[in-house]
Amino acid sequence: MRLLACDLDGTLLEPEAGTRDFCRRWETVRDVHLVYVTGRTWPGTRGLLGRVIPVPDAVVTATGTEVRWRDGSLDTRFHERLAAGWDPAAVLAALSGFVRLPAGDAPLRFTVAADRAQVEAALRRQGARAAVIPADPGVVDVCPRGAGKDRALAYVARRLGVGEGDVWAVGNAPNDGPMLGSGVVGAVVANADPAFARSLPARVIRCHRPGALGVLELLERMLGGRAGGRS
Ligand SMILES: [Mg+2]
Repeated sequence: MRLLACDLDGTLLEPEAGTRDFCRRWETVRDVHLVYVTGRTWPGTRGLLGRVIPVPDAVVTATGTEVRWRDGSLDTRFHERLAAGWDPAAVLAALSGFVRLPAGDAPLRFTVAADRAQVEAALRRQGARAAVIPADPGVVDVCPRGAGKDRALAYVARRLGVGEGDVWAVGNAPNDGPMLGSGVVGAVVANADPAFARSLPARVIRCHRPGALGVLELLERMLGGRAGGRS
């Protein structure tokens, strides 16, 4: 079995006509697992499933801090592993000098308006252990170590019994970077920020089309049996 992992915003959710094309095509696809890997929280994701986009085999939400399965159930093993190394009081104390964006908060994630280096320095001063993951320009997610889209996707693939080389992952933004640059077949959609796209390893596929149309392009390439590599 192979696995297609898609970011949502800026990737599978636009343009709307492309999302519809993907849904139609997906109905005919067999023997490929579908996984969404998003910065959205679960409440901001679940209303899309089965309505706007196909119901996936698994969903990774809140920048790789939560894994849920097809029926929406939380993977408690992944959750407990992350929660065990997470001291929210110490992390919040380290973040006290930054502007928090509460709308981005999830159980194992704080979102702040700051640069990565500033936040990492503040965490070090406080002796707080956390991963700092760039979200939007000037915005970072602060999560338990072991979180992140790349780590959560690797966990899901292992649980589904899919080898890393059979995982195809596509995204558009810096929080997709570690996932696209890992051992999977990575791809970036054409509407990605040019500086971000340039920062990715040469082996990452550059889709010719934007958003969901780029995802479709990648899906056809996967089903056509063409391996990863330069596009
Ligand atoms: Mg995105």
